[in-house]
Amino acid sequence: MNTSKNVMTDLPDLQAYWMPFTANRQFKRDPRFVVGAQGMYYTTHEGEQMLDGVSGLWCCAAGHCHPHIVSAIQEQAAKLDYYTAFQMGYPRTFELANRLAEMAPEGLSSVFFTNSGSESVDTALKIAIAWHRVRGEGQRVRLIGRQTGYHGVGFGGISVGGISSNRKLFGALLAGVDHIRHTKDLERQAWSRGQPEWGAHLADELEEIVALHDASTIAAVIVEPIACSGGVLIPPKGYLERLREICDKHGLLLIFDEVITGFGRTGEAFASQTFGVKPDIITLAKGLTSGAVPMGAVLARRDIYDDFMQGPEQLIEFAHGYTYSGHPLAVAAAHAALDVYEDEGLFERGRETGKLLGDALQALKGKPYVIDIRDFGMLGAVELEPVPDKPTARAQEAFRLCFDNGLLVRTTGDTIALCPALIADESHIAELVEKLARVLDSLS
Ligand code: PLP
Repeated sequence: MNTSKNVMTDLPDLQAYWMPFTANRQFKRDPRFVVGAQGMYYTTHEGEQMLDGVSGLWCCAAGHCHPHIVSAIQEQAAKLDYYTAFQMGYPRTFELANRLAEMAPEGLSSVFFTNSGSESVDTALKIAIAWHRVRGEGQRVRLIGRQTGYHGVGFGGISVGGISSNRKLFGALLAGVDHIRHTKDLERQAWSRGQPEWGAHLADELEEIVALHDASTIAAVIVEPIACSGGVLIPPKGYLERLREICDKHGLLLIFDEVITGFGRTGEAFASQTFGVKPDIITLAKGLTSGAVPMGAVLARRDIYDDFMQGPEQLIEFAHGYTYSGHPLAVAAAHAALDVYEDEGLFERGRETGKLLGDALQALKGKPYVIDIRDFGMLGAVELEPVPDKPTARAQEAFRLCFDNGLLVRTTGDTIALCPALIADESHIAELVEKLARVLDSLS
């Protein structure tokens, strides 16, 4: 544990900054700051060490400021600060694509780089619609998401996403989107360890949606293998398999949004490998660089890429890309993060530590207001009974108490979500659950 003090006494004027996904007025009345981080801990502006129970925002899988990642970024910044990936190459970017293709489920070996999870999702949706068109099925334009799904904040992502508060301010969104039901049912699933036994049949709702719109109008279905921002909902046994079957039957592409579940979170490189269900497209970000530099990626089936490679050779086959696609700092950070995952065996380590996390969390059963505990790999959730007529209030109180007690968690609805870095050891898990237990005991 890093115990160095880094006390900041002069706080900045808070007015100009419009903070993302934050209750701005409430925060500015009672702000919280961090000023540094190392390994499993943040340093607050008051010089306190705070255990990071959520890998920053589900992203810093190798812990904070890992020396190998830090030096890779520093060296890269002095060597090549920027190039455009439009009509020009940088060898390290191609090497990174090759590395990801090697790790990916077999056949998902075409890699498109973006700068965030939201961009990965919008890119994947565009690939899906455009692919059907280049194959002569331009009428397949509908997209199917899932209730409570989170796919970032682009217009594509919020359209297929299923969190009402992220959608309601923003008009009609994309046309032609529909949603299948979420998989949560506490009456039948509460206190399951890992994948719930009940709920595979919920995937059959996709058949009804296909019947309603006709398969010939649908391009793709997108889901998170584990719906994290929707409350860490673990897929019921057989559910993802069923989605795969229905997509195959009707010629729909299946997209797994693995922005959180990628890079060891579930014990394998990707959740699709852990669950043994292969999608056609995978979206990534977060753990790709262990959060150190923004970067995302889309892995697509090789034959999808091949189908775009037609027509006159001087024409751009897929008119899409970002100024910062394949940015050299991100490329360097991603190579370094993948080195760390490999050299330190972090996916295997996470698999073992995940069992400790799950056991320790389950021991919180019986604490005040706890109505369910879910765990899978290095992901966990403690769901609280909502305060009547005040949804989210109880979890927000828990968040605040955790912060004041030196523990960073994430809350979604009335669920406390946990996602410690893969470097966490037994003592970190013990500290995390001990602090959480104390907070649960003191909830009002
Ligand atoms: N998709 C999923 C499943 C996510 O959890 C997130 C972010 O949490 C995103 C997409 C969006 O990623 P970003 O915030 O990098 O745009």
